[in-house]
Parts: sequence; structure tokens; C-alpha cells
Amino acid sequence: MTTEVRPPTRVNDVKMIIGGEQVDAADGQTFEVVNPATGALIARAPLAGPADVDRAVRAARDAFDGPWSTWSASKRGRALAKYSALVKQHLEELAQLESANVGKPIVGARGEALAVSLVFEYYAGAANKLFGETIPVSRPGLDFTLREPVGVCGLIVPWNFPMNMASWKLAPALAAGNTTILKPASYTPLTAIRLGELAIEAGLPPGVVNVITGPGGTTGAALAGHAGVDKIAFTGETTTGQEILRLAAGNIKKVSLELGGKSPNIVFADADLERFAAESPYAVFDNAGQDCCARSRIFVEASVHDRVVELFTEATRRVVVGDPSDEKTEMGSLVSQRQRERVLDYIGIGRDEGAEVAYGGEIPTGDPYDAGAYLMPTIFDGCRADMRIVREEIFGPVVVIIPFGDEAEAVRLANDTPYGLSGSIWSRDIGRALRVAKGVRAGVLSINSNASVHTEAPFGGYKMSGIGRELGMHAMELYTEVKNVFVDLT
Ligand code: NDP
Repeated sequence: MTTEVRPPTRVNDVKMIIGGEQVDAADGQTFEVVNPATGALIARAPLAGPADVDRAVRAARDAFDGPWSTWSASKRGRALAKYSALVKQHLEELAQLESANVGKPIVGARGEALAVSLVFEYYAGAANKLFGETIPVSRPGLDFTLREPVGVCGLIVPWNFPMNMASWKLAPALAAGNTTILKPASYTPLTAIRLGELAIEAGLPPGVVNVITGPGGTTGAALAGHAGVDKIAFTGETTTGQEILRLAAGNIKKVSLELGGKSPNIVFADADLERFAAESPYAVFDNAGQDCCARSRIFVEASVHDRVVELFTEATRRVVVGDPSDEKTEMGSLVSQRQRERVLDYIGIGRDEGAEVAYGGEIPTGDPYDAGAYLMPTIFDGCRADMRIVREEIFGPVVVIIPFGDEAEAVRLANDTPYGLSGSIWSRDIGRALRVAKGVRAGVLSINSNASVHTEAPFGGYKMSGIGRELGMHAMELYTEVKNVFVDLT
């Protein structure tokens, strides 16, 4: 692959990647990208129309039918290893772009960039470790299965963890031999574009990784409905996931969905309450609460309710809210003023419903807060299971606390939601913790921890939190078809 990658001359001059080339939209339209922590315009990105989507699909199809199909699994793995190394080499640049585009703290963004390189590294190794089976069928002969790529995959990702969500899809899709069209969220296209450029540098043939930018309702929908796309992998809101399913029905695309959550954090009286309280604010206020795994519902055994509220509030007071570029900052800005309005609406709804604000609930003032979409971490106590702030995904720095009487009630409350993504259980009684883990209908649970994401382990939701499992070897199922071959030996 010889295409030369030109780094953007100015930050505000980004281009899409189609067929290995850096391109503008066919009709020249663009949209603006801002830093939500300062309100500054940081880029102008191409606004892809139907002609651009068609072009990307053609490029991906040509690559799938052409050079890419001749690559062995090992060769794909080596290219992914190079991709991983390039991401590591550009770690600081990617972290700075992500921090400026999402408003997230730079220290966290560096960790996320490292995680991206580790995801590519994992799937570099996975590429040639995916095999079929031989099956003892009843007829005389040999029966075996092949794992083959699905084809052209549309990858539609949200704004909260833009480069991580892109890597969770790109890496297994490429390892399995698919070609891809990545569509980042309109708020946050910058690291996706950079990942597209690095794919070219890694030596992936033109058209294997395409990146198109533009609004979900038009660009994203055109991709999800396109007859030339074989699969859509999507992360985002549950209602958008429902729309994707409808759009994908036209040609019966394979669809995998990572959707919303309202994850429980269940704490029993016998738990290490100090540790729970020290760690758990970060489980809901990290990324300003814009996290599908956010432990946004705390269920606490009634006998320790007051103590836990006190400890948790104390720990939340120490969360450093500030300028994302400051190394000390733990919680930056929300992704946009609009998102902050949405979260403030929910805070108002919570007050009207009679919940009591134990901490936060307001916009911080002064420098640097006045320029950006900042909001204080907010704790609601005195909540009931029927309140909207308890039932609906807020996707901001808001947590609700509800007491429970016994184990059975804890499980019932945790399951009283249409979502089922993640959750935590805190108890020193491991038998009880495991019983509760079995009882909670969610895809990703942690005991005495809030960790949900491990590159090597499956991640995904029950119920309205999604379809399919990303990460680990489970993700390879999302990006492969199984072909059965029978050979008559008589
Ligand atoms: P959206 O569903 O609005 O957007 C996600 C992506 O889909 C964006 O790229 C968006 O483009 C695009 N999109 C929007 N409408 C359509 C459409 N009709 N057809 C095709 N694509 C479309 O989610 P948000 O960006 O608001 O992200 C936040 C949501 O994502 C939260 O609900 C959160 O729970 C969920 N999420 C789930 C995760 C999980 O793993 N389960 C992980 C992270 C987030 P555009 O930006 O241009 O609108």
C-alpha cells in the first residue's frame, strides 16, 4: 500500500477516508466540530451525503472481493499488530484530540488511547486463532465448518468513548477478514478519522477501513439501510438501535447492538463500605456520567443507608471537576450544552418527583466552568423505584440511592428496568454475592469492583441493552458466518 497520508494541515481541515484516500463530501458540505469545554470551533468535517455513502460501500465491496480476500489470517494479524503499534506511537496525539473533542480529562483519554492499542493487539493475535469444527454427522463422510467474514460492515459509534467504541468494532471485524465503513458521532469525528488514516499507514489495502462523517439521521441511516452493507455494528441509544433494526430489515443485515443502561450498584451491610464509597463515585461520574455502564442506581441495605450516603457524598466531594487539559482533573465537561440541558432537565424532574439532592445539582461557576458544558456530580437520595430519574437513562453525572430490606428485594429492584447491561455487587459473603450476580439480568457484572470492561472478556447487554457481545473471542461471532461443508466419502 503506497498511499501517502497527509496529516491535517490545520485541525479544522479534516477529511473522510474512502478507498484509501482522504476526501471531502462529493457536494463539498461540511459541519462544525467544537470543544465542549471551551466552546471553541476545533474542526470542520465533511458532511457525507448519499453519494459518499455509496462510494464508501463500493470501496469496501471492491476491497472485500479484491486484495483483502487474498490475505491469510496471519497476514491480517500482522497488519493489526502494526496498527496497534501505530496507535501506541500516536497515543498522545489521539488522547489530546479525544480530550478536546469530548471534553474528557486528558489523563483518562490517555488510558483510553492505550486501551485502543491493546484492543488491536488482542485481535492481531486472534486473527489466526479462529477455526471451525469437525462434526460427527450420521451419514458416512466428513462434516466440517468454516468461519468466514460477513462482508462489508457498517460500524456506527457514539460520542462518549469515540475511539474505544470504534476499536471494539474495527479490530475484530478486520481480524475476521471483513471490510469496514466507520461512522463516528457528529460531535466527535476526530479520532475516528485519525484511526482511518493510521489504518492506511498500517498497510491495510485501500477500502478495508473507510471513515465517513455526517449526521446519524441521514449519513448513518443511509449506511444502515444500504443494500450493499452486510452487517451493522452499532453503539448508541436504545431508540436509535430500534431504528437501525428497522433500517437493516431491507436486506436482512446481521446486526449487533450495544445500547443504553441503568446499571445497579448493590451494597450489602457486610461489604467494605469505605472501599465501596471510595471507588464508586468514579463508577458513575467518570466521563461525566456519559457511560452506558455508569452505576447510576445505588441500592443500599437499609441498615447502612445513612452511613453509605455519608461516605459516598464525602468521596464525591473530592472528585475534581475542571479543565480537561489539567492533569489533576477527574471530571471534565459534558459533550455539549445540549446534553447538559438534557441532564439538567432530569435534575429538575428528580426534584419535582420529591427526591432530595444530597450533593451537586448545579452548574459550577467561574473559570473554566463558564465557557463549557460543566455540571457538578449530583446525588439524589430519598428515591423511589417509580421515579423517572430511577427508571430512565440520564447519561450524565447523576446517581440515585434507594434502600432495600433483603437480598430478594435487592435483586427485584436491580431487575426493575428495561435495561440489562452491567452492575456491581458489594458483600463479604461470596455466596450471597454470587447468588445476586446470578439473579441480576445483565450481561456484565462485577463483585467488589466496578470494572466492566476487559479486552479479553465479553461485553454486552441483556434485554433492551443490546444484541451480541463485543470484546474477547465472543466478538468474532459477530463478524463471521458459519459455513457447514459435508464431504461424502462413500
Ligand atoms: P445515538 O444513538 O444518538 O448515536 C449513536 C450513533 O448513531 C451516532 O454516530 C449517531 O450519529 C448515529 N445515529 C443517530 N441516529 C441514527 C440513525 N437514524 N441511523 C443510523 N445512525 C444513527 O447515541 P449517542 O451518540 O447519543 O450516544 C449515547 C448513547 O449511547 C447512550 O444512550 C448510551 O447508553 C449508549 N451507549 C451504549 C454503550 C454500550 O456499549 N451499550 C456504550 C456507549 C454508549 P450522530 O452523532 O450524527 O447523531
